Amino acid sequence: MNFYILTLFPDMVLEGLGTSIIGRAVNRGLLSIDAMNIRDYAFNRHQSVDDYPYGGGAGMLMQAEPVYLAYEAAMQKIQSRRQEESAADTVETVGQKPRVVYLSPQGKVFSQKMAEELSKEKDLILLCGHYEGIDERVLEEIVTDYVSIGDYVLTGGELPAMVMVDTISRLVPGVLHNDTSAEGESFQDNLLEYPQYSRPETWHGKKVPQVLLSGHHANIQKWKRQQSILRTKQWRPDLLESCELTREERIWVEGCSTEQKIEYEKRGKE
Ligand code: SAM
Repeated sequence: MNFYILTLFPDMVLEGLGTSIIGRAVNRGLLSIDAMNIRDYAFNRHQSVDDYPYGGGAGMLMQAEPVYLAYEAAMQKIQSRRQEESAADTVETVGQKPRVVYLSPQGKVFSQKMAEELSKEKDLILLCGHYEGIDERVLEEIVTDYVSIGDYVLTGGELPAMVMVDTISRLVPGVLHNDTSAEGESFQDNLLEYPQYSRPETWHGKKVPQVLLSGHHANIQKWKRQQSILRTKQWRPDLLESCELTREERIWVEGCSTEQKIEYEKRGKE
């Protein structure tokens, strides 16, 4: 998958995404991350990209033209990459327009579901705003999706873009060590993940739940599922509403006091 990040701070983005799992995936050719500096497309002597907003108001606004030129440059790169690949007979997506995401606190809130959907794209353009944002006219012309990472305001779209690239990339086949690593994680099926333990068996007097040491696969799976349900009930009851539980699971979870049950189940005394 190829990411094209339009930003005023390419170093920030590349440094942030250049290490660990994502960095290795880039080195292995599973991902490419191209951070394009919008300032390179400024059309004035001082390479300034911002100006005062018409009608007054606090702060400066990023101007339409440099953003548009950076977008066009990204599109050029995508087109030539696609042409090369289709010449090599590997993809049939030459004519398809890539999605362009504007990171904005006004957008739809980013979610695992959205990440899953976007991970199927071949190319994705992420546009990072700064200052008070970007001239509306260019947004109208190029943006396909407005995405927020939460109901708070950051100084720029770089951290949100990095959050999106990280989340989407781990869903790209081959990026994680094995393809099952992303399975069973929080938010899959609207459930949070169950608690996990590693060696030693006892730490600070706390024991690993007995069931996990039993080697009994069916009981372990049942315990994990129950823990996921209970944890979701305790911490994110809003998710539980739209989660698919069996009738037995619903009756069971509604009938138990969450805190007590979690403690009880953890110790594997049932
Ligand atoms: N004036 C804008 C408003 O009230 O909607 C906020 C501008 S913000 C200071 C500057 C830039 O940071 C935005 O253009 C956007 O790219 C990015 N940004 C800030 N908060 C964000 C969030 N929660 N999610 C995604 N991007 C965000």
